[in-house]
Amino acid sequence: MTSIQENFDLSNYNTMGLKALAHFFVEIHSLSELKEALEFSDERSLETLILGGGSNILFVKDFKGLVILNRIKGIQTVSEDEDQITLKIGAGENWHQLVRDCVAKGYGGIENLSLIPGTVGAAPIQNIGAYGVELVDVFVSLEAYDIEQKELKIFTKEESAFGYRDSIFKKELKGKVVITSVTLRLSKNPELNFSYSSLKERLDEKGIQNPALNDVSEAVIEVRQSKLPDPDKIGNTGSFFKNPVISVYQFDELKSAYSELTGYPISERQVKVPAGWLIEQAGWKGKRKGDAGVHSKQALVLVNHGSATGEEIWKLANEIIESIHQKFDIRLIPEVNILGLAH
Ligand SMILES: Cc1cc2nc3c(=O)[nH]c(=O)nc-3n(C[C@H](O)[C@H](O)[C@H](O)COP(=O)(O)OP(=O)(O)OC[C@H]3O[C@@H](n4cnc5c(N)ncnc54)[C@H](O)[C@@H]3O)c2cc1C
Repeated sequence: MTSIQENFDLSNYNTMGLKALAHFFVEIHSLSELKEALEFSDERSLETLILGGGSNILFVKDFKGLVILNRIKGIQTVSEDEDQITLKIGAGENWHQLVRDCVAKGYGGIENLSLIPGTVGAAPIQNIGAYGVELVDVFVSLEAYDIEQKELKIFTKEESAFGYRDSIFKKELKGKVVITSVTLRLSKNPELNFSYSSLKERLDEKGIQNPALNDVSEAVIEVRQSKLPDPDKIGNTGSFFKNPVISVYQFDELKSAYSELTGYPISERQVKVPAGWLIEQAGWKGKRKGDAGVHSKQALVLVNHGSATGEEIWKLANEIIESIHQKFDIRLIPEVNILGLAH
């Protein structure tokens, strides 16, 4: 039996650095350990939470059930030819480490996703994305254990229903399956994507006109380090809100009032607007309520200046949601998974 701990402090297991307690806690390294942990939970009718790197979670309260820390490791080559390689990766592998290992071997496709914290198993859940690339672009399939039916299932790209920071695992299957491995197809002759303006500027500054795979990965790392707070120094979960999608009509109306507003068309009728800009315009950038705050360089990031509680961060998030609604008639939706709210 895997060793289950009681009243476990999760401070070091969530990047917001919140002091939440898990009633029960266990670290698993294999499918059989996962099954044992789920049985423990089932026998006691406990709520179960799968935890990866804790970089996309807000514990508003202590967690009354069993937290299962996924550390299922291992990387296998499924197939390989001159042009590409398909890898099956354990869900508990560290995402950034995987990116760096692939870059070092010359496998391209995920270099723009360098330095995103967390585990491989959580990457499909919100279809992680950055600098013009999303997980879906390299995704082949994943294996997940169905908690109720007690069996391993394979999900293809279509079945995963990926969207902008979204997938079936964040919606219908939330809490119902545990992702145990993810299969990705990477290119040995990658077409590098460094069209994103801040990436291009960084490469220009370094005098690199024809970047290699590693140059792009390093530029992404440097740009991110200059813009985003390091969770080891100041607690945060990256972007707290999704960029809202509004109608073209509403966008045109807003644009006439705020000429500097930018938008990214996602269909003929809809435009995605930057949530960070909206929050900044509403005067929240750098604001602080006790130890809960809005980052001074990037208004989309909420931070824990030291001893904020999950409730305080959540209260601040709601004040921001309300203020953006009043000012722009747009309702922000958290990108982060909020745990502990009354149903
Ligand atoms: C500084 C910083 C920068 C960030 N930048 C980006 C970015 O550029 N782009 C981006 O998309 N995201 C970004 N994020 C968010 C975050 O890193 C990603 O969402 C990441 O994939 C979360 O991984 P995790 O292992 O930490 O997940 P966790 O926070 O541990 O879990 C997130 C959710 O997934 C569930 N879960 C985790 N693992 C599994 C599993 N194996 N099976 C089933 N459910 C599971 C959890 O229960 C929870 O609901 C950033 C976060 C930080 C702190």
